[in-house]
Amino acid sequence: MVKNKDAIKKKISYLIDFAISENKSHKSNPYIKRYVKLAFEFAKRINYRVPKEIQRQVCKNCFEIRDANNTKTRITRGKVNHKVKRYLQLHCVSCNYVKKISI
Ligand SMILES: [Zn+2]
Repeated sequence: MVKNKDAIKKKISYLIDFAISENKSHKSNPYIKRYVKLAFEFAKRINYRVPKEIQRQVCKNCFEIRDANNTKTRITRGKVNHKVKRYLQLHCVSCNYVKKISI
């Protein structure tokens, strides 16, 4: 068991904030993906669901930070229990992972 969950939660948010700031300022930094991957591994270790705001900024399949050049967004429709629902689709170009967010 891990004793101090709050400290690890702080570490997760710090790591992802740092990765996002590095992605803006120094894009050539090769460790950006590794920071994000580390944060997700910490979350798995303490059984903690990473908040929505972070999951929308980061691709959880290839650990890349979403960008205008990196993702395609579009609105799609789908049927759930005979009702039409609308989704915002985030498509990661580098790994072809699609995330759906219901509107
Ligand atoms: Zn991806």
